[in-house]
Amino acid sequence: MRKNKQSYHCSFCGKDKSEAMLLIAGIEGHICETCVEQANQIIQEELYGQKPQTHKPAAGKQKQAPGFAHAKPQDIKAYLDQYVIGQDEAKKVLSVAVYNHYKRLSQLHKDDVEIEKSNILFVGQTGTGKTLLAKTIAKFLNVPFAIVDATVFTEAGYVGEDVESILSRLLQVCNYDVAAAERGIVYIDELDKIARKADNPSITRDVSGEGVQQALLKMLEGTDVNVPPQGGRKHPEQKLVKVNTENILFICGGAFEGIDKIIARRLNSQVIGFKSDDFIRVDHDNMLQYINHQDVKHYGLIPELVGRLPVLAYLNPLDLSTLRRILVEPKNSLIRQYQRLFEIEGIQLQFTPEAIDFIAEKALEFSLGARGLRSICEAIMTDAMFELPSQKDIRRLDITREYAAEQLLRSNIGRLRGAA
Ligand code: ADP
Repeated sequence: MRKNKQSYHCSFCGKDKSEAMLLIAGIEGHICETCVEQANQIIQEELYGQKPQTHKPAAGKQKQAPGFAHAKPQDIKAYLDQYVIGQDEAKKVLSVAVYNHYKRLSQLHKDDVEIEKSNILFVGQTGTGKTLLAKTIAKFLNVPFAIVDATVFTEAGYVGEDVESILSRLLQVCNYDVAAAERGIVYIDELDKIARKADNPSITRDVSGEGVQQALLKMLEGTDVNVPPQGGRKHPEQKLVKVNTENILFICGGAFEGIDKIIARRLNSQVIGFKSDDFIRVDHDNMLQYINHQDVKHYGLIPELVGRLPVLAYLNPLDLSTLRRILVEPKNSLIRQYQRLFEIEGIQLQFTPEAIDFIAEKALEFSLGARGLRSICEAIMTDAMFELPSQKDIRRLDITREYAAEQLLRSNIGRLRGAA
């Protein structure tokens, strides 16, 4: 491990001096050229809303994702930790999968040992961080990233979008740089919604379910796909762009509502016949942690598709303390964002710990998950954001639990849900 205090390393990605081209010293540590470059892109994106310019590899440079260059799974997870709270198991699994995926890409000789693609399936309730994980890993790797919703696709020939349009989105985000797109990441949301319905045997054609799964198969495995550049449906006069998907990492996600019952059934049948002291105490509040591929198949994904998603990870439901941490800990947490907004006005904004507790409690109570934190904060902060810019003498605002409760009660969301 490179945690030796004497050795110089980048304090951001952990890269050792010997691995970096340049290591710039600061008061507390060092930074390597890759992290400087990446930080610059983040500044451009976050502050000026510009798209990163570096999707096109510089001439002569190896087409490798800069963030990945020397990052080990632990480095990748450390990066994810800055943005995604909790979900340690999913972060670990994702870090290893991404590391192996890019290791596979760097394999120079394709001999008899061919490393298979590590496409990933995330299972977890809505708002628990599935998309955030995929988005954050793409940012780390500095590769094009597209999010698509599986529910808009239908089997070829039916009203809806062809699955090929998944790649249109990817091409669009990298200005039609095919080489960049071919190393990108695609997040397919709501995969569970195209599961084959158990009570719907295919007497009638299952346009949006099994057919779409079949269409996704080849793409996930790796093949040349003719992509309509503008998305939507292919039509004869549209010029198609050929994209090879062999090195595209596909991350799929879904809530798979009701899968806990399938897991429970499997666990029950498995433990029969064991001696009582062999029993593992099953945590019924979080059955997802025991999920396996068999459960996903039973849910209605066809075995071939499940086979092309070899990495399976689950996300935990968010409890009160995780919601609280999500409010304050991530690098771009909501609280920090509001503080920045007020700072620009010259106002120092503080939330008391009790106010933070209140917001987290309400998000849990309203069953809105982490997504709800935002709407609750907006309801609390809107009046202040409306009034304070005109009041030149106010330099500090403290949000207390009482103030938060009062504001929420007055808001639409509070009135609708009885926020007292
Ligand atoms: P989903 O699981 O439905 O894909 P998202 O990743 O879109 O959920 O999460 C919705 C929002 O909630 C994100 O933008 C993020 O701000 C927040 N969020 C959810 N889970 C986490 C988490 N574990 N850590 C930090 N923020 C989170």
